[in-house]
Amino acid sequence: MALGLLVGAAYQISRARDFQLFGEIITHGPRDMPQIALTFDDGPTARHTPALLQALADGDAVATFFLVGRDIDANPEAAAAIIEAGHEVGNHSWDHPRMVLMSPAAIREQIIRTDATIRDLGYEGPIQFRPPFGKKLVVLPWILREMGRPTVMWSVEPETLLGADAEANDIAIHVVEQAEAGDIILLHGMFSTNQATRDALPEIITGLRERGFEFVRVSDLIDPADD
Ligand SMILES: [Zn+2]
Repeated sequence: MALGLLVGAAYQISRARDFQLFGEIITHGPRDMPQIALTFDDGPTARHTPALLQALADGDAVATFFLVGRDIDANPEAAAAIIEAGHEVGNHSWDHPRMVLMSPAAIREQIIRTDATIRDLGYEGPIQFRPPFGKKLVVLPWILREMGRPTVMWSVEPETLLGADAEANDIAIHVVEQAEAGDIILLHGMFSTNQATRDALPEIITGLRERGFEFVRVSDLIDPADD
């Protein structure tokens, strides 16, 4: 019973978006600057990266892509196109495992191998890390802290809240209405199931800009002094 409670509590902590036992966790940037970071998790995929990049280019918006190392390896041209377009690339693990019960060595390997793959593409900026499934618990933040890196989460998640059947317009309205200065928006656009998000992107960009926000990379949002 006591063990069950403990496991339950640990699970709740691992799920919580803005709490962890130690290590810096970031869910948003400063609230006094009219800046927003659009972030896209997973991939890249050869099939859907071009549409995302096109929508961002059309809207003259920069974004941050948290990429999976294995998928970069499989689709290097898609990853290179993201970098070429001037977007930030983050590390979203090597193969998107559930990291809660992984050994420290295995977690380190997931992070280091993906960093190396990103660097092999010639990427020079800071590489932020976002855990797969938003899970972090104890070992992962400990390792990230050792590496001097925060755990980068998010503060607006339209797909999660609206569900898999959400239409593009619902996603766009949610983001445009809910976003506040400093928010980090979590989006997924790399798979066929993410069509609504891809379709929502032009309206998200236009709507947020009409509200006076500018788009910045996650690294610039969370560390504005470090230009
Ligand atoms: Zn993911």
